[in-house]
Amino acid sequence: MASVLEAKNLDKYFHKPVEFHVLKEINLTINPGEFVSIIGPSGSGKSTLLYALSSLDREYEGQVLLNGVELKTLTNHDLAHLRNKSIGFIFQFHYLLADFTALDNVMLPGLKLSELPHEELEEKAIKKLDLLGIADQAHKRINRLSGGQQQRVSVARALINEPRIIFCDEPTGNLDSKNATVVFDMLKNLTREFDQTILMVTHDDSFSSKTDRQIQLLDGKIVDRE
Ligand code: ADP
Ligand code: MG
Repeated sequence: MASVLEAKNLDKYFHKPVEFHVLKEINLTINPGEFVSIIGPSGSGKSTLLYALSSLDREYEGQVLLNGVELKTLTNHDLAHLRNKSIGFIFQFHYLLADFTALDNVMLPGLKLSELPHEELEEKAIKKLDLLGIADQAHKRINRLSGGQQQRVSVARALINEPRIIFCDEPTGNLDSKNATVVFDMLKNLTREFDQTILMVTHDDSFSSKTDRQIQLLDGKIVDRE
């Protein structure tokens, strides 16, 4: 079975304010349908690793392969296309457009990809919102929705182009515990019902323990879990 994501001998340095070896000899493989969490203390390099794995950062030594394609070999144009088509992103802060409706926000990555006629895309976006239990909020502006609803919109947005993999950085970090559980359970459901591959950074053990596998980072290195 071909892997979705692979990192080979990944090393990264920051040069400012001082030389700092932030990621050290990272090797990992994510298989189709896996729900994997990246855990570790604050400052251990989780977000930096997620940025490299998710193509947002290509300033490192070593290789990252998505669907077998080495990200560093892609032109900026091809990388932008791959990002839009094959990768979903969910961050701690949702980065939705506040003055646009939930539906508009979900449709946006689909409009960029422009593979579907407008009506079909709209239908699809409504289906994604329905999957997240917020189809009734479709025509409300983002700034009228609660924090939990907003994060569910960002999950629907991540799904609209049916990505091979979704990367999440502390997706529940900005939510109260009830909404955090709702959003986590929805992510888990995507992996169970739809075989969605998800890689999630979290410092919340109650969530990471419910994923298929935990990758523990310590000082930029993957360490075995006791
Ligand atoms: P985590 O997400 O695990 O909390 P980060 O990946 O954000 O950790 O950061 C890892 C380390 O790299 C920290 O020591 C942080 O201060 C440092 N760091 C993060 N981004 C930069 C940057 N752009 N320049 C220099 N140092 C950085
Ligand atoms: Mg972080």
